Amino acid sequence: EKAEIRTTLSPLHGVISNNSGAAVNFIRSRVERMSKRWIQAAVRMRQSSNKTASTQMRVLLYPGALAGSIGQRFEALVERGGPLGELVQWADLSACLTILGHNLTFSTSQQQLHSLVGAAPGRGSCPIQRPLTYDLIYTDYHGLAHLQGAMGLAFLHYQCRFRILDSFGTEPAFNSGSYAHSHGYKTLWGSWGLQPLQYMTMFPHTPDNSFLGFVSEETARDEAREEELEPDTYRKDRIAVVYGKQDYMWQGKSEYVEVISEELETHATVYQPPGLASNLPSFIRNHGLLTQEHFLRLLRRAKVFVGLGFPYEGPAPIEAIALGCVFLQPRFDPPHSSDNNDFYKGKPTTRQISSQHPYVEKYIGKPHVWTVDVTNKTDVRETVRAILRTELKPFTPREFTCEGMLERVRSYIAHQNFCSKSVPTWPPESTLRVHLGPLGQSCVSVCRRSSLVCEPALFPNLNSPAAFARLGIGCSSMEQEVNHLFPSYSPWGRHCGLQQEPLLFSCAGSDPSYRRLCPCRAHLPGQVALCPECL
Ligand code: UDP
Repeated sequence: EKAEIRTTLSPLHGVISNNSGAAVNFIRSRVERMSKRWIQAAVRMRQSSNKTASTQMRVLLYPGALAGSIGQRFEALVERGGPLGELVQWADLSACLTILGHNLTFSTSQQQLHSLVGAAPGRGSCPIQRPLTYDLIYTDYHGLAHLQGAMGLAFLHYQCRFRILDSFGTEPAFNSGSYAHSHGYKTLWGSWGLQPLQYMTMFPHTPDNSFLGFVSEETARDEAREEELEPDTYRKDRIAVVYGKQDYMWQGKSEYVEVISEELETHATVYQPPGLASNLPSFIRNHGLLTQEHFLRLLRRAKVFVGLGFPYEGPAPIEAIALGCVFLQPRFDPPHSSDNNDFYKGKPTTRQISSQHPYVEKYIGKPHVWTVDVTNKTDVRETVRAILRTELKPFTPREFTCEGMLERVRSYIAHQNFCSKSVPTWPPESTLRVHLGPLGQSCVSVCRRSSLVCEPALFPNLNSPAAFARLGIGCSSMEQEVNHLFPSYSPWGRHCGLQQEPLLFSCAGSDPSYRRLCPCRAHLPGQVALCPECL
């Protein structure tokens, strides 16, 4: 059967409705609220697409964080200001796959998982292995452990069909258990030995993982389009909304917030436990935790969305910018990382977090995003005043629109095949731009400096003596090593090193004694995951 683009989300309603709880309700209401936009995007995609339909996939969606005992803990947090970013992603992934015409099963029950993917009970203690009925299984780190329990030995056989939603990303050095252990890459996660591209992130953190993303709020443009209006600016009140659903996020930030409140009426959406007195400063107008719909309505009126430094790298700043707010956020100097920060400690990444939201800092920037030293009151005040003088249009990077996500996920499904043993053929080799980086730089930054992006799937194409020769490098020696920084060149002694373990090809990673050989490629405007030739 072919995957035909659907212009309705009704098949999804039935798929989700077997599940219950606060988290699933959040997913359901988000899908409902955004369904009109998904359908409009589907109609446009149908009109513009001259592609033949691809094969319909049988897909299992299993958000492990919502299942079993972890699920119970998560549920309790949803209504008290706990993390919602993952739910945003699960909602949008479900909607996206439905529009793309695939056949979905959605489960948040660990018990049900056994009947969906487990072995059949056999005679005595010998279960009968059944062929897996799903072409793709989207899950998360928690779900991986559940799947392993349910599938037994079949887990290894079928793991190439898994896709792991992993907000902050997993770098190759942490992904290979033995390598991580022997090289001191400590992590509570990682170590599953999957291909790094099977991990799907919330933002394009490291190109070693696939960027899945989500869809940002964007109603204005759609309404404007319907009414044939110029995508316009919102009528803004002189108000700021502070980003932070729980009051611990406000600790030590009162002077910063006070400076802002001297210039603007300042609102908050902090969860308020019944019967407890609020710890928030008295000049703050707190609405309590809002439904997503009401929260977005508040952002629409606001001029500034104020980051406190936590939560890191969430969806809300993208939504705020899409609704015409300026995002004001703290700079981190020195940057936060798994070395110096409790939140990132144990996460399988070496990324240096230079501000609360490095993606909006680096990819969007001024006039939409202002990153400040929050301890410098004068600077904060001047920045707020400068913001108040700026007229601003709503802005959404293409990769966070329905079309952008549909285009990206469709390409992944059509081209990413981790079950085949042959060298990947997507993106095509013709897109490869080989760069030799300076000492101490990762391929992530080497490619970005040339407005390109590192493409890990192309590493095999430059992991050869010929690649060094083409760059005019004379190697005194050529060795193969299991090292996530390879292929690379060491000027002392003119050593050239090739990668021996394909799982360790890594865009991330740098060392002052190596010049890395990097596979860069171009990308579509506003869509880093895709190149012009690889749709
Ligand atoms: N949100 C909400 N009610 C609120 C504040 C935020 O529904 O009072 C939504 C917001 O629209 C966003 C989601 O919560 O899509 C996740 O927000 P955040 O960026 O805070 O990320 P998290 O840390 O929750 O993953």
